[in-house]
Amino acid sequence: MGLAEELQEETAEVLARLIRFRTVNPPGDERACQEWLAGYLEDAGLTCELHAAEPERPNLVARLPGGDGPTLGYLSHVDTVLADPQDWSADPWSAEVRDGFLYGRGAVDMKDQTAAEAVALATLARRNVKLNGEVKLISVVDEETGGTLGAQWLTETLPDAARVDYLLNEGAGAVMPYGDRRLYGVCVAEKGTFRFRVRTTGTAAHASVPGLAENALLKLAPAITALGGAKPGFDLTEATHALLEGLGEDPRDPQGALDSVARIEPRLAPILDAALRVTFAPTIVSAGEKINVIPARAELRVDCRVPPGMGIETARRRLGEVLDGDVDVEFTEEVEGNRSPVASPLMDAIRAWVGEHDPGAEAVPTVLPAFTDCRWFRAAFPDCVAYGFFPQRHQTLYETWPLMHAKDERIDVRDLGFAAGFFHDLPGRLL
Ligand SMILES: [Zn+2]
Repeated sequence: MGLAEELQEETAEVLARLIRFRTVNPPGDERACQEWLAGYLEDAGLTCELHAAEPERPNLVARLPGGDGPTLGYLSHVDTVLADPQDWSADPWSAEVRDGFLYGRGAVDMKDQTAAEAVALATLARRNVKLNGEVKLISVVDEETGGTLGAQWLTETLPDAARVDYLLNEGAGAVMPYGDRRLYGVCVAEKGTFRFRVRTTGTAAHASVPGLAENALLKLAPAITALGGAKPGFDLTEATHALLEGLGEDPRDPQGALDSVARIEPRLAPILDAALRVTFAPTIVSAGEKINVIPARAELRVDCRVPPGMGIETARRRLGEVLDGDVDVEFTEEVEGNRSPVASPLMDAIRAWVGEHDPGAEAVPTVLPAFTDCRWFRAAFPDCVAYGFFPQRHQTLYETWPLMHAKDERIDVRDLGFAAGFFHDLPGRLL
């Protein structure tokens, strides 16, 4: 029996236990879940500490000691988004296994990774494996609402507890079939968020004679359409450059690359498109309050994402390509994206492991259009190499992505063993 098969059942059991704790955030209430996990890891021989900004919401740091080599961190969060049982075909908190899938809120975001990391380290501890560096399992709270009490608090308040040289977290790893190739994404960077308001003004008047008014809402309409359909110029980074090369495309011709990807794997094209440029998503609109008054003011709110390493100038420049003058723009939120180097010993170790455990498959760097807790670790420890990677060989990215935050969230049980095998093997290879 291979290691994956060996670890699969225990990982499924641990995941089931974690899912049965309702850690919907808000309110989170992660304490019972974290205490159970700490007990499981202590039984195997790890040292555990709970660090809480709020008593019912502790973060767990478990340590597997090693030599003087670098420290490897396995990061995950145990809070989840809510679930409406009416929409589900299984109880979101019973961890039902059906047709080879384990169902439950958190099954892919991201108690699956917590479970695989915990079982891997418990196995190493029970076997008394000697490592050249320490491995920390860091299981945090409060990720789904921004990390204020979780990764942000831990890295800022207790940097010595959180400090690691290498970090693995969520963000990629499910296999992406691409033509006849099998690619595993390694998330090396995350886009930034630059949200803004667009305002238009007109003249209010009685709605019975529209010709006498200047309707602010109608002035806003073209902006909504323009932003919704916008394809601003490309803004490539080190990571997207490497991603296009990994796909076998020419980074000097991003449009040609997108066209080619759309032909080979249409499901990958929208994700790649979002990685290659600034995106605009109009999400909230407000205008009149009375049905019989033509509005004098209208406002649109836009969620804008900018490639890592680029700031508000890039957002403004690309916005200028899309909107013309007759609107007023105000940025309300500016968070720059974050990234780690594409080349590192961690990347080398991942590439080698993938090639051995899914022969012919390759690892490629990817960019997440959203944020994870990696941002707090990259901010607190500038030399830390942090990647998103949870390898799934059976359940593809195209199947996994739509299950995040959605009904019938589930994970192929075979991938629990596959991933646990990876987290088990990595410390011996990397440290
Ligand atoms: Zn998550």
